[in-house]
Amino acid sequence: MDMAGDTRETIVIVGGGICGLAIALALHRKGIRSLVLERAKTLQATGVILVHPNGWRALDQLSVASYLRQTAIPILSGQFISLDNDKMEELHIGKEELRCLKRTDLIKILADNLPPNTVRFGCNVLSMEMDPITSSPVLQLEDGTSLNAKVVIGCDGVNSKIAKLIGVKAPTIFNLLTIRGITIYPSAHKFGNEFKMIKKDDVIFGVTPMTTNRVFWFLTTKYISESDPKISKSHKLIVNAACELVKDFPSSIKEMVKNCSPEYSHFSECLKLQTPWDILRTQYRVGRVTVAGDAMHAMTPFIAQGGSASLEDAVVLARCLTGKTVVGGPSGGGSKMMVEEAFDEYLKERKQRVMRLSLQSYLLAKTEETSSKFIKFLCIVLMVVLFPDSFIHTRYDCGSL
Ligand SMILES: Cc1cc2nc3c(=O)[nH]c(=O)nc-3n(C[C@H](O)[C@H](O)[C@H](O)COP(=O)(O)OP(=O)(O)OC[C@H]3O[C@@H](n4cnc5c(N)ncnc54)[C@H](O)[C@@H]3O)c2cc1C
Repeated sequence: MDMAGDTRETIVIVGGGICGLAIALALHRKGIRSLVLERAKTLQATGVILVHPNGWRALDQLSVASYLRQTAIPILSGQFISLDNDKMEELHIGKEELRCLKRTDLIKILADNLPPNTVRFGCNVLSMEMDPITSSPVLQLEDGTSLNAKVVIGCDGVNSKIAKLIGVKAPTIFNLLTIRGITIYPSAHKFGNEFKMIKKDDVIFGVTPMTTNRVFWFLTTKYISESDPKISKSHKLIVNAACELVKDFPSSIKEMVKNCSPEYSHFSECLKLQTPWDILRTQYRVGRVTVAGDAMHAMTPFIAQGGSASLEDAVVLARCLTGKTVVGGPSGGGSKMMVEEAFDEYLKERKQRVMRLSLQSYLLAKTEETSSKFIKFLCIVLMVVLFPDSFIHTRYDCGSL
């Protein structure tokens, strides 16, 4: 393809994160070529991702699950401990598969299974217009070139340009902060295969074993005043901030945080979420342009479902597109109307699913964020009534490719 001037591609995926790569792979498994434009120079992934059974079902469909299973131990049980009232309860995480993966392992296996040259790095998409004659999307890239596509799928994350360009409202911001880290134990840690969540005052702390000597931990709390902008850039400052927040926690937790590996520490504040009512009323398609992953359904990390939901998007989107046999093949054909119908089918199925995920994430985030006892109580009542089984979302099956 000539990069000097206008170029033409059939299916262009903007963003090579979990969702963009998973969609490209799902299409590839169906024999359909796509092009992924990624603004970074290399694959971008740090930290970890909890993958619930619904995510594993999607990974199985993408035929990458068996490799990933070898990289992390299964979590077999869960415990919630409240230090405020010395309460301890079992977390019914179910009998199905839950593992905490390194993001690099996930991203790499998705990319490794793609045909050569599917991902084009260093391609920052600046804007998109519709061709006035063909009504096809035309992407403007930072290097000054433009790219004509028949179909554009925006997988460019929580601050998605494609979503903005097709009129999707920016996600709602919660005044919550989260700190995450990995701690490596020279000999085996003592958590076995158990996930633990500990609460004290406004701090929720979670520990998930990844392997026999490596644990992932996270904490979430209210974000009260503007923190030092330098924190997120410095491992030492992140660890100091986390140590301060867990100072009244058991010594095993304080040690874990203090010994956080420089390999991974992460600080983020102002968590973003696409509310269920915004998801309900948003048209996520304009012509042959749609969105997936965080670009469609940014989610606070409370139910750790953003990544798994993105994998589900990939399976459903590829199924809808190929079900209509609208795109792909040597000529990359497919009528405009059939692509639009396929996108509508995909969106109908995904909206129902992600609205429920978003509602559960919203209620959990609101419970943590609010200072009003009444709103907190209301959110808890709604959660008990609407989600009596708080892990029900993990039993969802996105179906076959
Ligand atoms: C603190 C935190 C913890 C989380 N924990 C979990 C968890 O345990 N389990 C889980 O399932 N989910 C979790 N999530 C959610 C999960 O990380 C996201 O849902 C998932 O990464 C979304 O994937 P994505 O591909 O849609 O977006 P991203 O991973 O953000 O990828 C977007 C890609 O698009 C590229 N891009 C952006 N703009 C452009 C552009 N203009 N041109 C070209 N490329 C562009 C970016 O460089 C990036 O590579 C968590 C999220 C947060 C914030």
